[in-house]
Amino acid sequence: VGPVTLLALSKQADGSSTQPLEHLDAVVESYISVLEQLHAAGVEWVQLNEPALVADLAAADDAALAQALQSAYRRILAAEKRPQVYLTTPYGSVRKGLDAVNELQPEAVQVDLSVGTLALDPSYLERVAGLKSHLSAGLVDGRNVWAANLRDLRAKLETLPGASVTTSVSLQHVPHTVEAETSLPIDVANWFSFANEKVREVVALSSGPLAAPEAYAQADRAVRTRAESARTHNEAVQNRTAQLPEGEVQRQPLFAERNEAQKALGLPLLPSTTIGSFPQTQEIRAARAAHRKGTLSDAAYVDALRDEVKQVIELQERLGLDVLVHGEPERNDMVQYFAELLDGFVVTENGWVQSYGSRCTRPPIVVGDISRPQAMTVEWARYAQSLSEKHVKGMLTGPVTILAWSFVRDDVHQSVSADQLGVALADEVRDLEEAGIDIIQIDEPALRELLPLREQDRKAYLDWAVRSFRLVALEAKPTTQIHTHLCYSEFGQIIDAVAGLDADVTSIEAARSRMELLEDIDDKFHSEIGPGIYDIHSPRIPSVAEMAELIRAALRNVPVERLWINPDCGLKTRGYDETEASLRNMVLAREEVLSSLVPA
Ligand code: GLN
Ligand code: ZN
Repeated sequence: VGPVTLLALSKQADGSSTQPLEHLDAVVESYISVLEQLHAAGVEWVQLNEPALVADLAAADDAALAQALQSAYRRILAAEKRPQVYLTTPYGSVRKGLDAVNELQPEAVQVDLSVGTLALDPSYLERVAGLKSHLSAGLVDGRNVWAANLRDLRAKLETLPGASVTTSVSLQHVPHTVEAETSLPIDVANWFSFANEKVREVVALSSGPLAAPEAYAQADRAVRTRAESARTHNEAVQNRTAQLPEGEVQRQPLFAERNEAQKALGLPLLPSTTIGSFPQTQEIRAARAAHRKGTLSDAAYVDALRDEVKQVIELQERLGLDVLVHGEPERNDMVQYFAELLDGFVVTENGWVQSYGSRCTRPPIVVGDISRPQAMTVEWARYAQSLSEKHVKGMLTGPVTILAWSFVRDDVHQSVSADQLGVALADEVRDLEEAGIDIIQIDEPALRELLPLREQDRKAYLDWAVRSFRLVALEAKPTTQIHTHLCYSEFGQIIDAVAGLDADVTSIEAARSRMELLEDIDDKFHSEIGPGIYDIHSPRIPSVAEMAELIRAALRNVPVERLWINPDCGLKTRGYDETEASLRNMVLAREEVLSSLVPA
């Protein structure tokens, strides 16, 4: 990591007023000494990654970053004993910083020339053509899994005399190799390119069609069969979304009237609930694995899951929670579960990628137009509701999160898939209503995650993202209470979009920031709100006193009739013992606060 990015993406520890970038000089000093040691050890090239140059950061704007780059690299490049510097700028286009790069002239510069980056910044290809350093053209898209259109990319490369070829970003975001996939539909397998295949594309681009005719012929075939495939294009789906109104859509009636109508739900003051999942026990995982292997029958698997749902409902009744959930035992993952049931997706067997730290996921792939052949969650919700007199919340993953945690299409804009998911999930909402479910949660934890790195691209994203959520809820009955859930803090930037979702109840992560986010909430934010009062990322059992204090803190910003009591997020990664103890304390904390409220 280069010094500018290292500091620009750092946070200053609490209590200090210095900004991380103020340490630049000292950090550069250390880089110079490390580079000198590498040089002495015989290293000829060193790669310094500066992805911060492609973002508008709250801590430093484009101009400030360009200036930091100047000051850091002027000194680094002036050092006498150093390897040659290969500067990379993945994940987007360098804007103001490009002049600085040109003045500094490191020996080589890598730029992201993926289709997605060029779509947001069409003149980038021409701008980088003027760079005086050796250019390493990141033409092969490292962030998706589609086989490259080699002829197109080769034509771009030919506009960059003397350039070499690479991927747009490192290969950490894509699975290892398509060769490990043995059960992809035969027509589809050729459309993909994972890490190994992308490396071959880099080589083929560099050698050209005369030297590698086979690779180009194969790429042509993939491009053609994909464009013509019925898997990619579903006319019925396209016709349906074509009939949607353009731009903003609005559920009727407006919040105030719905809020009135939803009093019929008969919920108490400060209603308590959870975010959806209950612990995914060893037994559930084992049953799922056995079912996948074929050693556990469909019927036996469903029985095991129903048993689990029953226990989860009984537990919540015992604890005295107000709005219940079924616990999501049937979901291997909140995105993959839906992807497996929707048309337009394929899932891989071995396509693992790192998601966070040591956690890995197997993102599904959106291959074409998306539709819902049949109801996906209704039977589970209906069964859970049959076990209790209390309301059971239906549980859906929203369009943005499904797309964010999948590999998406590169032949249509993401908003097209988002609209398709929006109407597919709207059908699910209708079916849930018909099954007697009157509270439905649509999770959108990834809303913040897809936010574009450049300020100027954010509004367009938030517009389609919010629209797709609203499509899901658009036809819901006024008496159906629509919840949404978002995790990960730092909502400040997108708080208007969260308000724009127009949910009836919003639950958000807040325990770790001690309710700080509630300060961002203003008049535009009308929904009822459940700021999480315990951090589910740790096995620690929060005490009654500390949760009661958080509820009181929340009440300083949120009127009592709008506040909900819930944990920060789902409980699937927790064990039952700590879950039960924590939820019991949560319910007690709620009672304590309730009993101390002065009656109106
Ligand atoms: N309903 C999901 C769960 O409880 C939400 C998970 C999430 O926000 N990441 O597991
Ligand atoms: Zn969450």
